[in-house]
This record gives sequence, C-alpha cells and structure tokens, in this order.
Amino acid sequence: MAHDFAYMEGYELQPKKKCGLKSAVKNLIKRTIPNECIFNNWKITLCQMSSSTTSWNNSNNIMKENVAINVEENIKKARRSAYGLFGGGFHGHNGLDPETLVHLFKTYISPVLLYGMEILLPKTAMLLQLEKFQKRFLKQLLSLQISTPDPAVYILSGILPVEAQIDKRALGLFNNICNQDESSTEKQLARRQISVKSLVSNRWFIQLKKILTKYNMDEINTYLDIPTKKEKWITLINRIIQKHWSDSITRMVPYYKGLQHLNYTEFHQGKLHSLLKIKCQSARDIGRIPPKLKMLTGTYILQSHRIKMYENETDPICLICHQGDETLEHVILECDGLSDTRNSIMDEVSAILKDSRNVDFHKQTSKVKMQILLEITMLRENLKLDTKLMAEIEYCSRRLLFLLHTTRYSFLSRGWKKDKKNVKV
Ligand SMILES: [Zn+2]
Repeated sequence: MAHDFAYMEGYELQPKKKCGLKSAVKNLIKRTIPNECIFNNWKITLCQMSSSTTSWNNSNNIMKENVAINVEENIKKARRSAYGLFGGGFHGHNGLDPETLVHLFKTYISPVLLYGMEILLPKTAMLLQLEKFQKRFLKQLLSLQISTPDPAVYILSGILPVEAQIDKRALGLFNNICNQDESSTEKQLARRQISVKSLVSNRWFIQLKKILTKYNMDEINTYLDIPTKKEKWITLINRIIQKHWSDSITRMVPYYKGLQHLNYTEFHQGKLHSLLKIKCQSARDIGRIPPKLKMLTGTYILQSHRIKMYENETDPICLICHQGDETLEHVILECDGLSDTRNSIMDEVSAILKDSRNVDFHKQTSKVKMQILLEITMLRENLKLDTKLMAEIEYCSRRLLFLLHTTRYSFLSRGWKKDKKNVKV
C-alpha cells in the first residue's frame, strides 16, 4: 500500500531495500536475498573478526567503513519511508493525533533506521548521527521547537534513545546465539572470542560483554552456559533497559527550568505520555496541541525569553498590557489584555472541578492553576481524577492556551504592522 501511495505521489520508496546491509568488503558475497544478506553480513563481520590473514588495523578500518556506510544508508531510507508514509505532510491531510504519529514512527520508520545496527554496533559519531535523526524527527512529529530539551522529547514520545534500542536488539540476538547448539559456529566463536580477546578489542562478543556490564547484568558466560527462554529474556531486557535509561533521562529534568510542569513519573513504563494519550475531539483539537506543548516544554517564545537572546534591543515588558514582564504565568493567568479570552474558559474549568471534586479553581495558588492548565496528569492522584474528567479539563486547557496564543499573536502582529508603517513614513 505504501508503495502504491509513493508511486501515486511521484517518488520512489525504498528502491534499494533488497541490498540488506552494505559491506565495505567488495565482491565477497553476492547480495540478492535480504535474509541471506543479513546472514552473510553477519558472517563477514565474524570473518573479519576472526580472520588471521587480515591485520587487526585493516579489519578495524573495514568495520568502521561498514558502519559509516550503513548508518548513512539507513538514515536515507528512514527519511524516504517517512516521506512515503506522510504524503500530506507529517501531520496527514486532515491532521493525525500524536498517538498515531508516534505509532507510525515506531512501526515503519524506527525499524528502517535501526536495520542491522545490532550487528554493527555503531559507536560515538555514528551513533550520534542516528540519535540526531531520531530526535529531530520526533520533534517534527510532535511540532516541538528544535531547541526543546532532549529529556522532554523522550518523555513525551515514550521512545528511548537510539543507543538503548540498539542494545535491546543486540541482546536479543545474543540470546538467540545462547540458545543454539554448542556445536554451532556462532556459539563456538563466542566462546573463543571471550576467552582469547581482551576488553579493549572491538569484537562483537566483547562489545556485548560491555553492554551486559553497562546494565549491571551477569557475566556473559552465565548466559552462554544456561540459556534463558526467549519470552523471559525479552521481558527481562525490556525491564532492565527501560529502567536504566528512564532513570538517567528523568534525572536531568529538574535541571531544566522550562520543564517544571512536565510529569515524568510515568516514563518508566516506556509508553507515550499520558497527556498525549488523551484523545482529541476533532481535527481542530489536534491543531491546538502544538502551542500547548511549546508552553509545557518551556520553548514558547515570550518577551522575557527574547531579552535573553537580544539583550540590547528587547524589553521583557508585556507588549499587550505593559503591566509586567511577559512570562508564561503572566500570559496564561494575569495579562489584562487577554482576560476576555481567558475568563469564560477558566470558569468552565472551575465548574468542572467544583461539580466533580468540590475544588475551587479560583482559590488555588498560581502554581497549582498553571499545573492544572498545562499538565493535568501530574495532579491525577491529588485530585483523584479519572480519565473522563482529565479529558474534559484537557479539552478546556487546549482551547484556552490556543486562544491565548492566537489572540496574543494577532495583537502583536497588529503592533508590528503599525511599526512598519511608522518606519516607512
Ligand atoms: Zn500583559
């Protein structure tokens, strides 16, 4: 279906899919059938690792070249898949909600991007390239600014960094080898490399040893001697890797002032952020999400941010009411110029909370009000909110923040036009 669609839209989708993994070793093996290619490449990788005729440096260079070629090719293909899927732009012809977008990314783009990487195990520069592609792409899907802090991207999408995903795949492959017969080539090679090579070596099984150490797992020989069943292994790996990465990512959140309202406690489950799981009521509702996410991640540009960027020319004072510095709190809760837009929806939120939980919204502190409007899921426990109530409040808050954004913007653009006229005179 994707192929037909790509054809109709006039571009070629995955023209070189049959190549499998590319190899810097020319003419060694004919590459025709994808499965065979992967297997052959695996063999090439292993051959290079164990070859006594090739010097260590030489095989090392070939490996590096292999990784570079394949990373470049994967990024190219992943980009092509994205264009193939999202014919009407990243957000579809009528708008796709974030949950669908992230699901499409996980199903169609991520596997292409990481194809064969568990065999090549890219490091530093190459890994960064893949990571950069993934982060940039997720930001585009969620309509986030390019300056959005990294933890926010992972927490909102529920997707782990590329390194974690490659580790997961490599450990999966390792378990398949563990479950093979003692007489199999791969298992014999594993035993040999582990006993002969030192930790500085670049051999696959030595790299795997390092991965196991990174996640505080048992010695590599333990798994080779007593293989774990596939299902049990997958559950174990998912749990360990998710915990390791979510701990290190969420640890960074308090250092970003702009992320103070973001609820990151649920990232440990490795799923899409619960705020984005709240269903949109219409295509129009989907369009209201981007300004809200910018405010939530601290990347919405206000006068107080502009002064940090252009200190000599910009005043932090709000250009609408001229009564205080234009901070996020000022725009959402205080600005007099926006009160007509704000009051009716604030009353709606207040009525919902009053009727269901007997909580007076207007009597809450600014901090709590901001939390309710920006990230209601953080208060789920405190206010004992169920999914339906959260959806109602979220619907109001999306509308409110979007209206504040458009009203502010139309006011400012009127001001800019006036300024331009004055300059002409
Ligand atoms: Zn103001």
